[in-house]
Amino acid sequence: MTQAPFPTPKLGEPYLLTPGPLTTDSRVKEAMLRDWGSWDADFRAMTRSLCDQLVTLAGHGDDFACVPMQGSGSYCVEAMLGTFVPRNGKVLVLANGAYGLRAAETLRVMGRAYTLIDKGDYMPPRGDEVAAALDADPAITHVMAIHCETSSGILNPVAEISDAVRSRGRKLLVDSMSAFGAIDMTGIHYAAMVSSANKCIEGVPGFGFVIARNSELDAAKGNCHSLSLDVHAQWTNMVKSGQWRYTPPTHVVAAFLEALHIHAAEGGVAARGARYTRNRDVMVAGMRDLGFETLLKDRWLSPIIVTFFCPADPHFVFTKFYDLMKSKGFIIYPGKLTVVDSFRIGVIGRMDEHVMRRVVQAAKECLAELGVTSAAPPAQALAERAKLAA
Ligand SMILES: *Cc1c(COP(=O)(O)O)cnc(C)c1O
Repeated sequence: MTQAPFPTPKLGEPYLLTPGPLTTDSRVKEAMLRDWGSWDADFRAMTRSLCDQLVTLAGHGDDFACVPMQGSGSYCVEAMLGTFVPRNGKVLVLANGAYGLRAAETLRVMGRAYTLIDKGDYMPPRGDEVAAALDADPAITHVMAIHCETSSGILNPVAEISDAVRSRGRKLLVDSMSAFGAIDMTGIHYAAMVSSANKCIEGVPGFGFVIARNSELDAAKGNCHSLSLDVHAQWTNMVKSGQWRYTPPTHVVAAFLEALHIHAAEGGVAARGARYTRNRDVMVAGMRDLGFETLLKDRWLSPIIVTFFCPADPHFVFTKFYDLMKSKGFIIYPGKLTVVDSFRIGVIGRMDEHVMRRVVQAAKECLAELGVTSAAPPAQALAERAKLAA
Protein backbone atom coordinates (compact mmCIF):
# COMPACT_ATOMS: atom_id res chain seq x y z
CA MET A 1 0.00 0.00 0.00
CA THR A 2 1.39 3.43 -0.87
CA GLN A 3 1.70 5.87 1.96
CA ALA A 4 -0.24 9.11 1.65
CA PRO A 5 2.25 11.97 1.22
CA PHE A 6 0.36 14.05 3.76
CA PRO A 7 -0.59 11.78 6.62
CA THR A 8 -3.80 12.48 8.49
CA PRO A 9 -3.27 14.35 11.76
CA LYS A 10 -3.40 12.24 14.92
CA LEU A 11 -6.75 10.69 15.76
CA GLY A 12 -9.14 13.38 16.94
CA GLU A 13 -6.89 16.19 15.71
CA PRO A 14 -8.72 18.17 13.03
CA TYR A 15 -7.19 19.79 9.97
CA LEU A 16 -6.93 23.55 10.40
CA LEU A 17 -8.39 25.19 7.29
CA THR A 18 -7.23 28.51 8.68
CA PRO A 19 -4.53 30.99 7.68
CA GLY A 20 -2.24 30.18 10.61
CA PRO A 21 -1.75 28.68 13.04
CA LEU A 22 -2.19 25.88 10.56
CA THR A 23 -1.75 22.14 10.24
CA THR A 24 1.95 21.36 10.53
CA ASP A 25 4.03 18.33 9.63
CA SER A 26 4.70 15.92 12.50
CA ARG A 27 8.44 16.46 11.96
CA VAL A 28 7.93 20.16 12.70
CA LYS A 29 6.20 19.32 15.97
CA GLU A 30 8.84 16.72 16.88
CA ALA A 31 11.62 19.29 16.37
CA MET A 32 10.35 21.01 19.53
CA LEU A 33 11.14 18.07 21.81
CA ARG A 34 14.46 19.38 23.00
CA ASP A 35 15.65 22.42 24.90
CA TRP A 36 18.18 24.93 23.64
CA GLY A 37 20.25 27.50 25.50
CA SER A 38 19.57 30.82 23.83
CA TRP A 39 23.17 32.02 24.35
CA ASP A 40 24.75 28.76 23.22
CA ALA A 41 26.73 28.58 19.97
CA ASP A 42 24.40 25.84 18.65
CA PHE A 43 21.36 28.08 18.93
CA ARG A 44 23.21 31.08 17.54
CA ALA A 45 24.08 28.94 14.51
CA MET A 46 20.39 28.05 14.17
CA THR A 47 19.42 31.73 14.16
CA ARG A 48 22.11 32.45 11.60
CA SER A 49 20.94 29.64 9.34
CA LEU A 50 17.32 30.76 9.63
CA CYS A 51 18.21 34.32 8.56
CA ASP A 52 20.44 33.21 5.69
CA GLN A 53 17.82 30.82 4.37
CA LEU A 54 15.08 33.44 4.48
CA VAL A 55 17.15 36.04 2.62
CA THR A 56 17.86 33.45 -0.07
CA LEU A 57 14.23 32.38 -0.16
CA ALA A 58 13.26 36.02 -0.72
CA GLY A 59 15.57 36.05 -3.75
CA HIS A 60 18.17 38.38 -2.27
CA GLY A 61 21.91 38.42 -1.64
CA ASP A 62 24.21 40.17 0.81
CA ASP A 63 22.58 43.57 0.38
CA PHE A 64 19.52 42.34 2.32
CA ALA A 65 19.19 41.07 5.87
CA CYS A 66 16.58 39.10 7.76
CA VAL A 67 15.76 40.18 11.30
CA PRO A 68 13.57 37.81 13.32
CA MET A 69 11.36 39.39 16.00
CA GLN A 70 9.57 37.70 18.89
CA GLY A 71 5.77 37.80 18.93
CA SER A 72 2.91 37.25 16.51
CA GLY A 73 2.76 38.83 13.06
CA SER A 74 1.15 42.03 14.29
CA TYR A 75 4.09 42.67 16.64
CA CYS A 76 6.39 42.43 13.63
CA VAL A 77 4.23 44.74 11.50
CA GLU A 78 4.36 47.23 14.36
CA ALA A 79 8.14 46.76 14.59
CA MET A 80 8.56 47.31 10.84
CA LEU A 81 6.42 50.46 10.78
CA GLY A 82 8.00 51.90 13.93
CA THR A 83 11.53 51.21 12.72
CA PHE A 84 11.47 52.18 9.04
CA VAL A 85 9.13 55.16 9.14
CA PRO A 86 10.96 58.15 10.62
CA ARG A 87 9.08 60.07 13.29
CA ASN A 88 8.48 62.89 10.81
CA GLY A 89 7.56 60.47 8.00
CA LYS A 90 4.11 59.91 6.56
CA VAL A 91 2.63 56.62 5.39
CA LEU A 92 0.04 55.97 2.72
CA VAL A 93 -1.77 52.85 3.95
CA LEU A 94 -3.58 50.76 1.35
CA ALA A 95 -6.44 48.96 3.04
CA ASN A 96 -9.00 46.50 1.75
CA GLY A 97 -9.69 44.53 4.86
CA ALA A 98 -8.80 44.03 8.50
CA TYR A 99 -5.03 43.84 8.18
CA GLY A 100 -4.70 47.10 6.23
CA LEU A 101 -6.90 48.81 8.80
CA ARG A 102 -4.78 47.30 11.59
CA ALA A 103 -1.65 48.80 10.02
CA ALA A 104 -3.34 52.23 10.03
CA GLU A 105 -4.40 51.73 13.65
CA THR A 106 -0.83 50.78 14.54
CA LEU A 107 0.45 54.04 13.06
CA ARG A 108 -2.23 56.00 14.89
CA VAL A 109 -1.27 54.46 18.22
CA MET A 110 2.45 55.05 17.69
CA GLY A 111 1.80 58.62 16.60
CA ARG A 112 3.11 58.45 13.04
CA ALA A 113 1.36 60.48 10.35
CA TYR A 114 -0.57 58.46 7.80
CA THR A 115 -3.26 58.72 5.20
CA LEU A 116 -5.54 55.90 4.18
CA ILE A 117 -6.93 54.58 0.95
CA ASP A 118 -9.71 52.35 2.24
CA LYS A 119 -11.25 50.21 -0.50
CA GLY A 120 -13.76 48.54 1.81
CA ASP A 121 -14.03 44.82 2.34
CA TYR A 122 -12.12 43.55 -0.65
CA MET A 123 -11.74 45.91 -3.64
CA PRO A 124 -8.05 45.89 -4.66
CA PRO A 125 -5.97 49.08 -4.37
CA ARG A 126 -4.60 49.73 -7.87
CA GLY A 127 -1.31 51.18 -9.09
CA ASP A 128 -2.86 54.22 -10.76
CA GLU A 129 -4.69 55.38 -7.64
CA VAL A 130 -1.53 54.93 -5.58
CA ALA A 131 0.36 57.03 -8.15
CA ALA A 132 -2.32 59.74 -7.99
CA ALA A 133 -2.26 59.79 -4.18
CA LEU A 134 1.53 60.11 -4.15
CA ASP A 135 1.46 62.91 -6.73
CA ALA A 136 -1.15 64.76 -4.68
CA ASP A 137 0.76 64.56 -1.38
CA PRO A 138 4.54 65.08 -1.47
CA ALA A 139 4.71 64.60 2.33
CA ILE A 140 4.13 60.85 1.92
CA THR A 141 7.42 59.02 2.46
CA HIS A 142 6.24 55.40 2.62
CA VAL A 143 3.47 53.20 1.25
CA MET A 144 2.20 50.25 3.28
CA ALA A 145 0.64 47.44 1.22
CA ILE A 146 -0.90 44.13 2.23
CA HIS A 147 0.16 41.34 -0.11
CA CYS A 148 -2.59 38.80 0.50
CA GLU A 149 -5.35 40.49 2.53
CA THR A 150 -6.24 37.44 4.56
CA SER A 151 -9.58 38.83 5.72
CA SER A 152 -11.13 38.35 2.27
CA GLY A 153 -8.39 36.20 0.71
CA ILE A 154 -7.70 38.70 -2.07
CA LEU A 155 -4.26 38.68 -3.62
CA ASN A 156 -3.50 42.38 -3.99
CA PRO A 157 -1.65 43.65 -7.09
CA VAL A 158 1.55 44.45 -5.20
CA ALA A 159 3.76 44.44 -8.32
CA GLU A 160 1.87 47.34 -9.94
CA ILE A 161 1.75 49.14 -6.58
CA SER A 162 5.51 48.65 -6.27
CA ASP A 163 6.03 50.21 -9.73
CA ALA A 164 3.93 53.24 -8.80
CA VAL A 165 5.80 53.73 -5.53
CA ARG A 166 9.22 53.29 -7.08
CA SER A 167 8.60 55.60 -10.01
CA ARG A 168 7.68 58.33 -7.54
CA GLY A 169 10.73 57.86 -5.37
CA ARG A 170 8.89 56.66 -2.25
CA LYS A 171 9.46 53.56 -0.18
CA LEU A 172 7.32 50.47 -0.04
CA LEU A 173 6.66 48.41 3.09
CA VAL A 174 4.88 45.10 2.53
CA ASP A 175 2.89 42.91 4.89
CA SER A 176 3.44 39.60 3.12
CA MET A 177 2.44 37.65 6.19
CA SER A 178 0.19 35.16 4.47
CA ALA A 179 1.93 35.09 1.07
CA PHE A 180 5.69 34.89 1.64
CA GLY A 181 7.02 31.39 1.00
CA ALA A 182 4.25 30.48 -1.46
CA ILE A 183 4.12 33.50 -3.76
CA ASP A 184 7.14 34.77 -5.64
CA MET A 185 8.11 38.30 -4.65
CA THR A 186 10.85 38.98 -7.16
CA GLY A 187 10.03 42.14 -9.08
CA ILE A 188 8.49 43.75 -6.01
CA HIS A 189 10.81 46.52 -4.85
CA TYR A 190 10.37 47.02 -1.14
CA ALA A 191 12.40 48.74 1.54
CA ALA A 192 11.19 46.11 3.99
CA MET A 193 8.69 43.29 4.18
CA VAL A 194 7.35 41.23 7.03
CA SER A 195 6.07 37.69 7.46
CA SER A 196 5.78 35.16 10.27
CA ALA A 197 6.65 31.60 11.21
CA ASN A 198 3.15 30.15 11.17
CA LYS A 199 1.91 30.91 7.67
CA CYS A 200 3.21 29.59 4.33
CA ILE A 201 6.50 28.24 5.69
CA GLU A 202 4.29 26.01 7.88
CA GLY A 203 6.03 26.54 11.22
CA VAL A 204 4.37 27.06 14.58
CA PRO A 205 3.52 30.51 16.00
CA GLY A 206 5.98 32.50 18.09
CA PHE A 207 7.98 34.89 15.94
CA GLY A 208 7.97 36.84 12.71
CA PHE A 209 10.72 38.31 10.59
CA VAL A 210 11.51 41.45 8.68
CA ILE A 211 13.51 41.26 5.45
CA ALA A 212 15.03 44.58 4.49
CA ARG A 213 17.86 46.22 2.61
CA ASN A 214 20.94 46.72 4.77
CA SER A 215 20.99 50.37 3.71
CA GLU A 216 17.40 50.81 4.94
CA LEU A 217 18.24 49.10 8.22
CA ASP A 218 21.27 51.35 8.63
CA ALA A 219 19.21 54.45 7.96
CA ALA A 220 16.56 53.38 10.48
CA LYS A 221 18.75 53.90 13.52
CA GLY A 222 16.99 55.85 16.24
CA ASN A 223 13.60 55.92 14.49
CA CYS A 224 11.81 53.48 16.74
CA HIS A 225 9.55 54.62 19.58
CA SER A 226 9.76 51.19 21.25
CA LEU A 227 12.66 49.39 22.89
CA SER A 228 11.61 45.80 22.24
CA LEU A 229 10.10 46.38 18.78
CA ASP A 230 13.17 48.11 17.34
CA VAL A 231 14.22 46.12 14.27
CA HIS A 232 17.41 48.14 13.88
CA ALA A 233 18.50 47.36 17.44
CA GLN A 234 17.66 43.67 17.05
CA TRP A 235 19.65 43.60 13.80
CA THR A 236 22.79 45.27 15.18
CA ASN A 237 22.70 43.01 18.21
CA MET A 238 22.43 39.94 16.00
CA VAL A 239 25.27 41.10 13.78
CA LYS A 240 27.42 41.76 16.85
CA SER A 241 26.66 38.73 19.03
CA GLY A 242 24.53 36.35 16.95
CA GLN A 243 21.87 36.61 19.63
CA TRP A 244 18.33 37.84 19.88
CA ARG A 245 18.14 40.76 22.33
CA TYR A 246 15.57 39.17 24.63
CA THR A 247 14.45 35.58 25.19
CA PRO A 248 13.92 33.94 21.80
CA PRO A 249 11.23 31.29 21.27
CA THR A 250 13.87 28.56 21.03
CA HIS A 251 11.56 25.62 20.35
CA VAL A 252 9.68 27.59 17.71
CA VAL A 253 12.96 28.41 15.98
CA ALA A 254 13.94 24.72 15.97
CA ALA A 255 10.54 23.83 14.51
CA PHE A 256 10.87 26.57 11.91
CA LEU A 257 14.23 25.25 10.72
CA GLU A 258 12.60 21.86 10.16
CA ALA A 259 9.75 23.62 8.32
CA LEU A 260 12.30 25.42 6.11
CA HIS A 261 13.97 22.09 5.39
CA ILE A 262 10.63 20.58 4.34
CA HIS A 263 9.86 23.70 2.28
CA ALA A 264 13.15 23.33 0.37
CA ALA A 265 12.67 19.58 -0.08
CA GLU A 266 9.22 20.20 -1.55
CA GLY A 267 10.80 22.47 -4.17
CA GLY A 268 10.78 25.91 -2.58
CA VAL A 269 8.41 28.80 -3.24
CA ALA A 270 7.30 27.57 -6.68
CA ALA A 271 6.34 24.08 -5.47
CA ARG A 272 4.70 25.37 -2.29
CA GLY A 273 2.70 27.85 -4.34
CA ALA A 274 1.74 25.14 -6.85
CA ARG A 275 0.45 22.82 -4.12
CA TYR A 276 -1.62 25.60 -2.55
CA THR A 277 -2.95 26.61 -5.97
CA ARG A 278 -4.00 23.02 -6.64
CA ASN A 279 -5.60 22.87 -3.19
CA ARG A 280 -7.57 26.02 -3.96
CA ASP A 281 -8.61 24.91 -7.43
CA VAL A 282 -9.86 21.51 -6.25
CA MET A 283 -11.63 22.96 -3.21
CA VAL A 284 -13.23 25.90 -5.06
CA ALA A 285 -14.42 23.71 -7.95
CA GLY A 286 -15.94 21.22 -5.50
CA MET A 287 -17.65 23.92 -3.45
CA ARG A 288 -19.03 25.55 -6.61
CA ASP A 289 -20.39 22.16 -7.66
CA LEU A 290 -22.29 22.13 -4.37
CA GLY A 291 -23.73 25.55 -5.26
CA PHE A 292 -21.50 27.76 -3.11
CA GLU A 293 -20.22 31.03 -4.61
CA THR A 294 -16.91 32.75 -3.93
CA LEU A 295 -16.80 36.39 -2.91
CA LEU A 296 -14.07 37.11 -5.43
CA LYS A 297 -13.76 36.54 -9.14
CA ASP A 298 -11.10 34.03 -10.13
CA ARG A 299 -8.54 36.70 -10.99
CA TRP A 300 -8.35 37.89 -7.38
CA LEU A 301 -8.61 34.54 -5.59
CA SER A 302 -5.42 33.86 -3.62
CA PRO A 303 -4.03 30.35 -3.23
CA ILE A 304 -4.10 31.01 0.54
CA ILE A 305 -7.67 31.37 1.77
CA VAL A 306 -11.02 31.70 0.00
CA THR A 307 -14.17 33.52 1.14
CA PHE A 308 -17.55 31.94 0.35
CA PHE A 309 -20.95 33.55 0.76
CA CYS A 310 -23.21 31.84 3.26
CA PRO A 311 -26.17 30.22 1.48
CA ALA A 312 -29.45 32.12 1.52
CA ASP A 313 -31.37 28.98 2.60
CA PRO A 314 -32.64 29.68 6.15
CA HIS A 315 -31.59 26.17 7.21
CA PHE A 316 -27.97 27.27 6.83
CA VAL A 317 -26.69 28.49 10.20
CA PHE A 318 -22.97 29.14 10.20
CA THR A 319 -22.31 28.03 13.78
CA LYS A 320 -24.05 24.71 13.12
CA PHE A 321 -22.18 24.27 9.84
CA TYR A 322 -18.94 25.00 11.70
CA ASP A 323 -19.66 22.42 14.41
CA LEU A 324 -20.60 19.76 11.86
CA MET A 325 -17.45 20.42 9.81
CA LYS A 326 -15.42 20.18 13.00
CA SER A 327 -17.04 16.85 13.88
CA LYS A 328 -15.87 15.61 10.47
CA GLY A 329 -12.30 16.72 11.17
CA PHE A 330 -12.14 20.19 9.63
CA ILE A 331 -11.83 23.56 11.39
CA ILE A 332 -13.06 26.28 9.04
CA TYR A 333 -12.90 30.04 9.59
CA PRO A 334 -15.66 32.59 10.06
CA GLY A 335 -15.97 35.42 7.54
CA LYS A 336 -14.89 39.01 8.14
CA LEU A 337 -17.07 40.93 5.68
CA THR A 338 -19.22 43.76 6.94
CA VAL A 339 -21.93 43.68 4.26
CA VAL A 340 -22.87 40.03 3.70
CA ASP A 341 -22.52 36.80 5.68
CA SER A 342 -19.55 34.71 4.69
CA PHE A 343 -17.10 32.07 5.83
CA ARG A 344 -13.56 31.22 4.82
CA ILE A 345 -11.66 28.07 3.97
CA GLY A 346 -7.87 28.16 4.09
CA VAL A 347 -5.82 25.98 1.76
CA ILE A 348 -2.38 26.42 3.34
CA GLY A 349 -0.68 24.03 5.75
CA ARG A 350 0.33 20.40 5.51
CA MET A 351 -2.46 19.23 3.21
CA ASP A 352 -2.93 18.37 -0.42
CA GLU A 353 -5.72 18.02 -2.96
CA HIS A 354 -6.85 14.66 -1.50
CA VAL A 355 -7.61 16.43 1.75
CA MET A 356 -9.43 19.15 -0.21
CA ARG A 357 -11.72 16.53 -1.79
CA ARG A 358 -12.57 15.31 1.70
CA VAL A 359 -13.34 18.89 2.73
CA VAL A 360 -15.82 19.21 -0.13
CA GLN A 361 -17.37 15.83 0.71
CA ALA A 362 -17.72 16.91 4.34
CA ALA A 363 -19.36 20.20 3.29
CA LYS A 364 -21.81 18.23 1.15
CA GLU A 365 -22.75 15.99 4.07
CA CYS A 366 -23.12 19.01 6.37
CA LEU A 367 -25.55 20.69 3.97
CA ALA A 368 -27.65 17.51 3.87
CA GLU A 369 -27.60 17.19 7.66
CA LEU A 370 -28.70 20.81 8.03
CA GLY A 371 -31.48 20.31 5.48
CA VAL A 372 -30.06 22.96 3.14
CA THR A 373 -31.35 22.28 -0.36
CA SER A 374 -29.47 25.07 -2.16
CA ALA A 375 -26.09 26.58 -1.27
CA ALA A 376 -26.76 29.60 -3.50
CA PRO A 377 -26.09 32.96 -1.80
CA PRO A 378 -28.68 35.74 -1.41
CA ALA A 379 -29.14 38.07 -4.38
CA GLN A 380 -27.57 40.90 -2.35
CA ALA A 381 -24.31 38.96 -2.15
CA LEU A 382 -24.13 38.55 -5.91
CA ALA A 383 -24.94 42.25 -6.36
CA GLU A 384 -22.06 43.01 -4.03
CA ARG A 385 -19.69 40.88 -6.04
CA ALA A 386 -20.79 42.48 -9.30
CA LYS A 387 -19.16 45.69 -8.04
CA LEU A 388 -15.76 44.06 -8.17
CA ALA A 389 -13.77 45.24 -11.17
CA ALA A 390 -12.89 42.51 -13.65
C1 LIG B 1 -1.76 36.64 10.01
C2 LIG B 1 -1.60 38.00 9.47
C3 LIG B 1 -1.05 39.05 10.25
C4 LIG B 1 -0.60 38.87 11.67
O1 LIG B 1 -1.59 38.46 12.52
P1 LIG B 1 -1.21 37.90 13.97
O2 LIG B 1 -2.52 37.39 14.46
O3 LIG B 1 -0.67 39.01 14.77
O4 LIG B 1 -0.19 36.83 13.76
C5 LIG B 1 -0.85 40.27 9.64
N1 LIG B 1 -1.20 40.48 8.37
C6 LIG B 1 -1.75 39.52 7.61
C7 LIG B 1 -2.09 39.84 6.19
C8 LIG B 1 -1.97 38.24 8.13
O5 LIG B 1 -2.50 37.28 7.36
